[in-house]
Order: sequence, then C-alpha cells, then structure tokens
Amino acid sequence: MVGPRQGPSVCQTCFNFTDHYTQCYTCVRNEPWADVVAPISYSVARGHLHRALASYKRVNGGSAGALATGLAAVLWRFLAAHERCLVAQVGVERFQLVTAVPSSDRLRDRQHPLHWIVGELVGPTRPRHQRLLERSAVEVAPRTLDPRKFQTRRELSGEPVLLVDDTWTTGASVQSAAAALKMAGAGPVVAVVIGRYLNRGWQENERRLRGITRPFDWSRCPLCA
Ligand SMILES: [Zn+2]
Ligand SMILES: [Zn+2]
Repeated sequence: MVGPRQGPSVCQTCFNFTDHYTQCYTCVRNEPWADVVAPISYSVARGHLHRALASYKRVNGGSAGALATGLAAVLWRFLAAHERCLVAQVGVERFQLVTAVPSSDRLRDRQHPLHWIVGELVGPTRPRHQRLLERSAVEVAPRTLDPRKFQTRRELSGEPVLLVDDTWTTGASVQSAAAALKMAGAGPVVAVVIGRYLNRGWQENERRLRGITRPFDWSRCPLCA
C-alpha cells in the first residue's frame, strides 16, 4: 500500500498526480459533490491491492471471501485511526449514517460484497450502516458523473453521511452517489475509498510512484499527514 499525500502536483480532490495543477483534469470537469475524498491507498495497476480490489467481487472465486475480509481489515484500521480527521474536515460531530456506493449493475448489487464489508465486517461502520442508495433505471454512460445514476431509498434530513467505495478511478461513481445523497437531503458527504487507482504507464506516474519511498504509515492519512 502507498499512502496518498497532499502536495504541489497532487489533485486536491482525488490525490491523482498532476503536473503542477491543483486539480486533475477529471476533477476540474466533474462537479465535486462529495465534500471530502479520502483515499486510503493508491491502487497501482496490477499491484497487490489492485488485484484484491478487482477479485473480491468475483463471487465464484474461492478466495473472494478472504480478500473481502482483508479489505475490511484495511477499512477498519483506517477508520479507527482517522475517522476523526474526516469528521474535522466538515465540522460535524460524527457521521450518523454510513453507506456504500452500489454496484453499477443493478442485479449484481445484491451480491456486492462491499455492503457486507461496511454493514457487517467492519466494527466502526456496522451500527451506522444503511443501504441508502440503489442504481436507478436511468441509462448512464460508463465513467460519467450523472446525479441520476443512483437514487436513494428514502429522504434524508441533513444527516452527515460517510460514503464508502472500494475504488476511485475517475470518481464518477462516488460523485454520482454523493450527488444522489445530497439531492435527497443529506448533510456533508465524505467519501472514503480503499484504493485510488493509478496506471503506471500514464504520463509521469511511474517516476512519481518510484519517488515515494516512505513505507505505508497507519498513523497518517491523506488529511492529517
Ligand atoms: Zn482529481
Ligand atoms: Zn488522519
């Protein structure tokens, strides 16, 4: 795991590497519905975390359960140490509600193990978990931010929501989910994602990744480092 850090050539929203810009190209174009985005680690293509995030959803794979348990441990440990950092960013006392970004596929969402991770495996999220979101019937192009992509199952009345997703690639799913929550009446929405995807071959990513020599530090997060 490689912990994202704020810096001069790092996107302020999603921690993507940029070339001296404060935001990456995608985040400039996409409306920032989530108040804060906190990626636990970079997820580098074909790396260990990337493989785990890709494989834990394959329900027929024998090791999927073990991978889900491992990802749950990562989320648990991160929130135990840094949920206070997320709370401080939006000036609330606590997140009353925790929910996961649904699968983009309505049928697959029933089996989506992220709901199991957030709703059952992870101690700090279990008592506050509600399945607030579902994929709507609206056709949405892949990797496109669209507030109609998801719909909520009930109205909200200003509650702060901690929104969990496994992977951030363009951020379209997370921002679409945050949009649906906000339009349903949610208060601040803070997104925590386990892996912020990076393609080694893109632009300067290889050089930038090689430049990160610090080991992963559980006592520091992207917001408090
Ligand atoms: Zn960005
Ligand atoms: Zn922190």
